[in-house]
Amino acid sequence: MRIAVDLHSHSGYAGGVGQIELSQVSHSMKLKGIDIFGTGDCLFPPRTQELQQQLQPCEEGCFALPGDSSRFILQTEVIFSTKISGYKNKIIAHHIILFPNFSAVHKMQNLLTKWGMKNTIGRPFITSDSVKKLQTQLEDIAAIDPLVEIIPAHVMTPDGILGSKNNLLTMQQFYRDFLPNIRIIETGLSADPKMLETIPDLAELTFISNSDCHSAALNRIGREFTVVEANEINYKSLIEALRANKIVFTAEFNPSEGRYFQTGHRANRKGHDGENYLPEIHTSKCPICGKKIIPGVQERCYSLQGNCIIPRHRNYRHLIPLVEVIAHSVGVKSVKSKKVIGIFNKLLQVYSSELELWCSKTIKGDLSGLVPPTTISQIMAVQKGNFRFEPPGYDGLYGKLQIFS
Ligand SMILES: [Zn+2]
Ligand SMILES: [Zn+2]
Repeated sequence: MRIAVDLHSHSGYAGGVGQIELSQVSHSMKLKGIDIFGTGDCLFPPRTQELQQQLQPCEEGCFALPGDSSRFILQTEVIFSTKISGYKNKIIAHHIILFPNFSAVHKMQNLLTKWGMKNTIGRPFITSDSVKKLQTQLEDIAAIDPLVEIIPAHVMTPDGILGSKNNLLTMQQFYRDFLPNIRIIETGLSADPKMLETIPDLAELTFISNSDCHSAALNRIGREFTVVEANEINYKSLIEALRANKIVFTAEFNPSEGRYFQTGHRANRKGHDGENYLPEIHTSKCPICGKKIIPGVQERCYSLQGNCIIPRHRNYRHLIPLVEVIAHSVGVKSVKSKKVIGIFNKLLQVYSSELELWCSKTIKGDLSGLVPPTTISQIMAVQKGNFRFEPPGYDGLYGKLQIFS
């Protein structure tokens, strides 16, 4: 059966946002069509307690609010950091960890205590003096339960394992002998399978996409997601399907929307006097301000690509959250405006979920009279992939959406 999953999120404890109610999350999941959602921050003790109090166990390893159909699995993000010889700065890499039950979560909390790591925020740090120590720690985590899964998160962002800040040449430098236990990676909002498929280190791995959201809003939950073919709905079947690369498709941001897609310096930087700089070839120093230029995600991907990789075919599609398409079509800035939500609700009377709308090749039934014609034509354009971000994102600026309807 096909299951839509979004396995990377954060709670209010990860900072920057207020508390997010699980009931709100569940409501948004249903509208979006997400079946299983990663709880976020499950290691942080107040969050663990909250999850234990509010969620009830259902299918093995899955949890739900009483009487509710949305499923949750226990998930956290952890930041590993270590010293690698030859690298001046510490290597920092974000990871998603999935747990089959609360007992495994408690065992992981005990490991954090044993290692003297603070567990006082939603997304804890695990620091190691050496890669050798890191390898032992990763092995200890994997030994908690054979179904614990450690997944490098948003691999190409500056805080991802292969990002330009770390500047690693191979994942082996970081994982050493633990490498065979890495079976799945998260592409992140800034890269898509096309960009990653010819990187030798990733060629054989499963690619998944998640929202990494810090909110229950409709433009956040499921803004990226994965549809997987699993035998049944439970944690074990899900993990086995992911490990076996049974991905039906991933829904991705168009990477050119990302704030660090292209290499360059924006016009309002100090010393730039309103002039931007977008080099066509690799440049390490900006000729305008004289400062270092960090390679964008696209350039970083090119630099890691191998010559003789035959890409494994991966199904994916670029999508934009429906509320953003609606807002764009009616010329409204806020995706939370009454007008946008009104149109969204009308569409969701016709479609069972946003996922169903995007999976349809055409517009279902007669929507004219229900929603504005420009909204219909822009939805159809997005269904066909007729949109891009021009100019693309660079140096902290998002790409600008253009829909060709
Ligand atoms: Zn992260
Ligand atoms: Zn500059």
